[in-house]
Amino acid sequence: MNTILPTLQLEPSPQSWQQALQDLIKKPSELAELLNLSPEQLSQEAAEQFEVRVTRHFASLMEPGNPNDPLLLQVLPGIAETIKAEGYSSEPLMESDQFNPRPGVIHKYKGRLLLMASNQCAINCRYCFRRHFPYQDHHLGRKQWLEAVDYIAQDHSLSEVILSGGDPLSQSDKQLSWLAEQLKDIPHIKRLRIHSRLPVVLPSRVDEKLLSWLNSEHLQTSMVLHINHPQEISTELRHACKRLKDADVRLFNQSVLLKGINDNSGILAELSEALFESHIQPYYLHQLDKVQGAAHFQVEDEDARRLYYELRAELPGYLVPLLTQEIPGKAAKTPIV
Ligand SMILES: *Cc1c(COP(=O)(O)O)cnc(C)c1O
Ligand code: SF4
Repeated sequence: MNTILPTLQLEPSPQSWQQALQDLIKKPSELAELLNLSPEQLSQEAAEQFEVRVTRHFASLMEPGNPNDPLLLQVLPGIAETIKAEGYSSEPLMESDQFNPRPGVIHKYKGRLLLMASNQCAINCRYCFRRHFPYQDHHLGRKQWLEAVDYIAQDHSLSEVILSGGDPLSQSDKQLSWLAEQLKDIPHIKRLRIHSRLPVVLPSRVDEKLLSWLNSEHLQTSMVLHINHPQEISTELRHACKRLKDADVRLFNQSVLLKGINDNSGILAELSEALFESHIQPYYLHQLDKVQGAAHFQVEDEDARRLYYELRAELPGYLVPLLTQEIPGKAAKTPIV
């Protein structure tokens, strides 16, 4: 008799977010294989200039076999990156000297200050203005943070601390809550903001521990996510956002306008509506910072303006993000319209 043994269909045990961060896709060839793409699409040189990093969750939202998938194009090292373009520099915002009163601190916006809480991201976006930033040289730990806290305590014009990076949520909850704890006794600090792409590319980051810290946080807390395309909004992300909202975290989104990815008013309108459904307020739509290697993503100002007016014609005002540009040396973003 021929007995067929039942095959054990064990669900893979869910990874913790820390395990998922150890298990990123870093080999361009692995990305190509996972998505049935031809390796000709990849540039080894581009991958050497700026390492490939993609979470498995983000990759799972891409359409296999589609070389123009809008999520894929954000992370795939392509030949276009290696072409030098006039007017694009390795440090478009000149951040590292001019506005850098302490290590890991950027103080250029009035009343608010950016504190680098981590020097890592879970994903490397090819258009990132920090793609040439020497993160390894910026060690950040409690010693540096205490110096930053001291600076914050002395400047009474500050009311908000923005945790930035890298991606601040790639830092442990223990470190983050410790850092927030240090701000507790500074009376002029009212608000804490977290700028992160982690909930998008790794929704499991929004776990019980993070939520319990945020729930107990005495500062008014907000989170600015970074989502460029409606396809990035997964069921898991929607669930995470609902839990953040229930923990009293105000959610906003900033997008970068990217040629071939979201430079279309239909897509931008769909994005705004999907954000709203997920309790996220559309906030900024940024023109790309002119970083070397990203020129092929640039949308002309004229086209950006046209898209903005198309959105205004189509959506209620509260779903239209502000179209802005970061001009080096300016103490706020500059609206383009
Ligand atoms: C613009 C910007 C800020 C400050 O934004 P506001 O919402 O205008 O205060 C903070 N961090 C990053 C990375 C930004 O691009
Ligand atoms: S997540 Fe943000 S900081 Fe990190 S690579 Fe992408 S755009 Fe840059």
